[in-house]
Amino acid sequence: EVVPTKTHIALLASPGIGHLIPVLELGRRFAVQHHFLVTIFVVTTDASAAQSQLPHYSSYRDLLNIVFLPPVDVSDLATGSMAILSQLVLLMRRAMPHIRAEIAKLKPCPSALIVDLFGTEAFEIANDFSMLKYMFHTTNAWFLALTLYYPHHNETDKHDHVYLHKPLNIPGCTPLEYEGTFDLDTRPDDRVLHEDYAKMGLDMAKVDGILVNTWEGLEPRTLKALRDPNLMGRFSSVPVHPVGPLIRPVQPVENLVCRSKVLDWLDSQPAGSVLYVSFGSGGTLSANQLTELAWGLELSGQRFVWVVRPPVESTAFGSYFRQKERTEDGTPDYLPDGFVSRTREVGLVVEMWAPQTEVLAHESVGAFLSHCGWNSTLESVVNGVPMICWPLYAEQGMNAAMLSGHLGIATRLKEVGPGTVVGREEIEKMIRRLMEKDEEPGKLVRANVLELERQAEAALAKGGSSHGSLERVAKECKTGLTGLRERAYG
Ligand code: UDP
Repeated sequence: EVVPTKTHIALLASPGIGHLIPVLELGRRFAVQHHFLVTIFVVTTDASAAQSQLPHYSSYRDLLNIVFLPPVDVSDLATGSMAILSQLVLLMRRAMPHIRAEIAKLKPCPSALIVDLFGTEAFEIANDFSMLKYMFHTTNAWFLALTLYYPHHNETDKHDHVYLHKPLNIPGCTPLEYEGTFDLDTRPDDRVLHEDYAKMGLDMAKVDGILVNTWEGLEPRTLKALRDPNLMGRFSSVPVHPVGPLIRPVQPVENLVCRSKVLDWLDSQPAGSVLYVSFGSGGTLSANQLTELAWGLELSGQRFVWVVRPPVESTAFGSYFRQKERTEDGTPDYLPDGFVSRTREVGLVVEMWAPQTEVLAHESVGAFLSHCGWNSTLESVVNGVPMICWPLYAEQGMNAAMLSGHLGIATRLKEVGPGTVVGREEIEKMIRRLMEKDEEPGKLVRANVLELERQAEAALAKGGSSHGSLERVAKECKTGLTGLRERAYG
């Protein structure tokens, strides 16, 4: 009897927990829904840090072949002044020989390689091993459109956007207002950064398919433009497959070794009463801004869970480890004296890390003050939790514009931006407007987010659009190049 060989695919995750989580989730879907063998290559600077931040790592390990590549060392380069995007490109470039060596060892050789935004240089390896090439865009389709369009938009438009702060037109898509612009345009003279980003856009236009962590109903206009040969389709005719929202699922209680004290605390709060405050896996605020946020929270009188980190001015990755000092009542030294005592009845300060998907799924949580990282955004949406946007870096400003703009599921602190400090009164006012039950903005965004939650669920269910997209990609991986050729010529 011939046992049919399982389809084997390989996925590549670039450094950062925000990149790893959606890649693991995509891998899990292929393994569970399509019974694929799935190998995941993880590039890190510190594998143990990545593992410790990945709750339920073992539940993935049972399903997927996870290979942590040797940590990449960039200590010989002056990375401090480099944009995060360029640092990631460099880290990935240095990991390529390891990726090649590991792929050569895999049996059977995977039929497809799926990389995230920073892994496009691995396509050369995929070509050498005759693998199909897919890109998994772990954020939204609007940012994907910007990336694909970037190498092509003209210098005058670029100049007007960057220096005159005019909106940037992306064919067929919502124009990008300068207020929410991509990080890149705040560093207009960084030549390496702009070249790296433009190259990503060009590389992406040559793949067999682009998977996006969004769904048809969330971004119909952008997805239509991406597929229209007269609009974004001029720059890339690659099929776009919205497969989202892919997020790390909430773990059933019986799987938890020890239930977090945050969840115990939430159990004793009234439904929908708590504001969850977090800036993602590495986001930090300046010392002044932390003080203002602490006061804003306290003055609002609302219940809260706040994941705090010491102020670090420069990088998104630098804040994981630091000796913590605290005052007698447990207030970390970087928060106003006595903050923990004064807010004990209504708030909980959690240092560094909270089980976020579980927190957002808890019925006591009523809103999320967020840096708008795309994973955090999706986690909020699938739990019907409205947001207050506080974007920090990367494409978060675009996400915030989308959420507080036509999607109408978030309110926005207008003053947030590089080098500015939002004052306590403004923060207090914004929190009250969202949290107090009879305030209009709160009512509206809550209704909108519940509708999106319903849509997201339908997209992922059997027969839903995202479920169907993944099925199509799985079929291509199964039939391999022959299938693709048949499609192209027949
Ligand atoms: N996360 C978490 N606990 C924290 C902070 C973050 O579990 O205290 C998770 C969060 O649920 C999300 C991911 O880390 O899945 C962060 O990804 P996101 O895209 O929101 O932001 P990034 O960290 O990439 O800026």
